[in-house]
Amino acid sequence: MENIPCPKSPEKLNTVKSKKLRQDGFLVNPLDPTSYDYQDTVDLAKDSFSTDEVQLTKTIGYTTQKTHNYVPQSAVALRCRVMPPPCIKNPYQKDASEMDIDRFGNQWAKCAGLFPVITGGDGLSRYYTDFHEIEQIGAGNFSHVFKVLKRIDGCFYAVKHSKRQLHHDAERRKALLEVQALAALGSHENIVGYYSSWFENEQLYIQMELCDHSLSDKKASQFFAEGEVLKALHQIAQALQFIHEKGIAHLDVKPDNIYVKNGVYKLGDFGRATLLNKSLPIEEGDARYMPQEILNEDYDHLDKVDIFSLGATMYELIKGSPLSESGPQFLNLRDGKLPLLPGHSLQFQNLLKVMVDPDPVQRPSAKELVENPIFDKIQKHRKTYMKP
Ligand code: ATP
Ligand code: MG
Repeated sequence: MENIPCPKSPEKLNTVKSKKLRQDGFLVNPLDPTSYDYQDTVDLAKDSFSTDEVQLTKTIGYTTQKTHNYVPQSAVALRCRVMPPPCIKNPYQKDASEMDIDRFGNQWAKCAGLFPVITGGDGLSRYYTDFHEIEQIGAGNFSHVFKVLKRIDGCFYAVKHSKRQLHHDAERRKALLEVQALAALGSHENIVGYYSSWFENEQLYIQMELCDHSLSDKKASQFFAEGEVLKALHQIAQALQFIHEKGIAHLDVKPDNIYVKNGVYKLGDFGRATLLNKSLPIEEGDARYMPQEILNEDYDHLDKVDIFSLGATMYELIKGSPLSESGPQFLNLRDGKLPLLPGHSLQFQNLLKVMVDPDPVQRPSAKELVENPIFDKIQKHRKTYMKP
């Protein structure tokens, strides 16, 4: 192995061409409002994969190395021989110490064993090298989601990976928009946390904060009292205010994409996120939660699309049954007609009504929503609760 010449690292190149690649190429995040020149990047999507694949290969590791010689052969050989590390118990991790001793013991014993218990591990898999897969916790149209234990820090995460291999440049770029949105946004208490992402076996892997469940899970489908709906509404409105201020629209707000962790509501699944200024492709979300204007392909108020979807979502939580995909109920909602909700305050019903107004301009912005006096009660309650 010592005789293998060390290939030049594309990272170290500092020519004008390589600088240009870094600026204009694949690594510029089109969803990051601070990245100038994102139009160039969008245009690149129409080009062949030629120049910027260098960056992709270098950055996302092991998938494309076989066809492109950017990872030293010696490193590949070494990696093949390296066993994944055992899981490390994290003493700061509250969940871990509270786990049932037997289950916990078994689990650690299992993953403290080395290579043989790592099903599917071939020494080249970042997923199996870095994580111990515990169980599948969900599946969407495009992805499988697993609860995993990260070997090095002993903490649990959710890892989502695409169901099928993304062979084409265009599909990979499209899938990457989700992580680019998450990375550009940064962290917010009411957004599912993002840690890292990589390509492996031509599938995109996304490591995220592990949540307890989503609002569409059976666990969540108990009766939602108005106070709890207000709490969810206020928290997701704060997430929307945060993303809208960064120039991003979610476009798929629905119970399935609102998660709960330790009683905190979090917006997740940024698979359809786009820029408010319409400079990225727009793919509407679940039709049940989409306002009429987007079904008419009018994209002038994408932030207000999220407000409509949030209003429809809250209405569904109160109603306790899924919204219709067609028929009179579907049409009434698009006309801003909400049936009376017995037992709920007029103030709350009026708020929901204005959120689903057929005219997007009449709908409150996320900021206006967050500042609505209806939330004063829960704010006060929170302050009292937080007093020492
Ligand atoms: P969609 O079909 O909605 O476009 P998708 O293929 O992009 O979906 P997600 O909706 O992101 O996949 O995830 C699928 C399911 O996995 C969710 O409904 C949820 O049950 C579970 N899940 C996803 N992310 C997490 C998480 N961070 N914590 C816990 N469970 C999660
Ligand atoms: Mg989803």
